[in-house]
Amino acid sequence: MLDCIIIGAGPAGSGAAYHLAKRGRSVLVLEREALPRYKACAGGISPQIATWYDFSFEPVISQRVDRIGFTWKLGDPVEAIIDTPEPMWMVKREVFDHYLVQQAQHQGAVIQDQTTVTGASFQGDHWQVKTATTTHIARYVIAADGCNSAMAKALGLHHRRPRTSLTLELPITLPPDQARYSHFEFGLIKNGYVWYFPKADRLTFNAATMVGGAAKDLQSPLFEYVRHFGFDPALGTLHPSQFSLWDGHHPLQGRQGLLVGDAAGLADPFSTEGVRPAMLSGLRAAETLDRALNGEPDRSPTALAAYTAALREDWNNDMVWASRIAGLFYRVTNFGYQIGVKRPSARARMGKILCGDLRYQDVSTRALKLLGSKLIPGSTPPKG
Ligand SMILES: Cc1cc2nc3c(=O)[nH]c(=O)nc-3n(C[C@H](O)[C@H](O)[C@H](O)COP(=O)(O)OP(=O)(O)OC[C@H]3O[C@@H](n4cnc5c(N)ncnc54)[C@H](O)[C@@H]3O)c2cc1C
Repeated sequence: MLDCIIIGAGPAGSGAAYHLAKRGRSVLVLEREALPRYKACAGGISPQIATWYDFSFEPVISQRVDRIGFTWKLGDPVEAIIDTPEPMWMVKREVFDHYLVQQAQHQGAVIQDQTTVTGASFQGDHWQVKTATTTHIARYVIAADGCNSAMAKALGLHHRRPRTSLTLELPITLPPDQARYSHFEFGLIKNGYVWYFPKADRLTFNAATMVGGAAKDLQSPLFEYVRHFGFDPALGTLHPSQFSLWDGHHPLQGRQGLLVGDAAGLADPFSTEGVRPAMLSGLRAAETLDRALNGEPDRSPTALAAYTAALREDWNNDMVWASRIAGLFYRVTNFGYQIGVKRPSARARMGKILCGDLRYQDVSTRALKLLGSKLIPGSTPPKG
């Protein structure tokens, strides 16, 4: 009988495995893909994650970004300097995620890749987790199986419909003066955006819609964007991808089981940032299960409610504000661009939020007032 089985070896699963194994718990991580695995993702990471993990991330930081450019329909350009103690980190997810797996292994977690979990059932006081060849048993399970989480369903918890996105990896090494620069374009896609983040040996271009229905065609605007910078999209590798966004407060605990990362729907609905909350949830899940394993007699679904409460306090309460801002910004993107991006103070704050130096709730009252003024007939935006 294991203490915990974790389904999925992304940052949420490895983060939880690291902190549980470090506390002396027996942990098995089951991962469908062969490791290291590619993950379609822009790879922009807030340096705040370093406060929750006691090892260095330096070996897997491919690039640092401290300048962001913005355009509306490829025109009207502005730029922001990210004025934070540490710039935004750029990582290649296959490298970053594998490094986390190795950190968890060093602590004693067992990782089994190329192993798909095909089912899980609760057996009175423990979980049976099935793969094609074996059945494993554990006191607790952690669902870290991403935005299509089957384990969330097995736990009887909220399941969301993922959104679709497109990523193009271009093998390009930028000269040093351009390598610390990223870019966002807001007018080419209705209800969303296209953007690129640089890595040491490639540029990662992405396209996604953030509100409303799925876009019929993400590829044409993505390719137009790539060509705008003088690159040939045919030289890149295209990856259709999926993501889920935070969509409200929901219980993240079930019977002797927890949801983490995308399986818990934690990604920022304004920016798609999901790695930071994935790694935070891994830590909080490990802390909660460690306490439960220390002899809490109550094994009811509500026994683990402290986990949902902790994440609400640390992350999800701020997502309420991110969601409100996104709901307005991405519906009136032209106006959002004028007041949320072109105003120097607003775009400087955006950089700080991405780095974890500022919370949405610190800027939301004014941002919502400005954005709302567009939607309320007859009202004018406040000055300044
Ligand atoms: C286009 C795009 C751009 C993004 N850009 C950023 C960004 O710049 N910064 C950022 O912070 N976030 C970004 N995100 C979001 C980020 O990628 C996710 O939030 C993050 O990967 C969530 O981590 P996770 O560990 O929860 O899930 P994942 O990384 O998805 O890992 C889940 C793992 O579970 C495994 N799995 C699934 N089912 C099973 C099964 N049945 N059995 C065994 N294993 C299974 C999968 O193979 C996978 O390895 C982006 C997402 C997209 C789509």
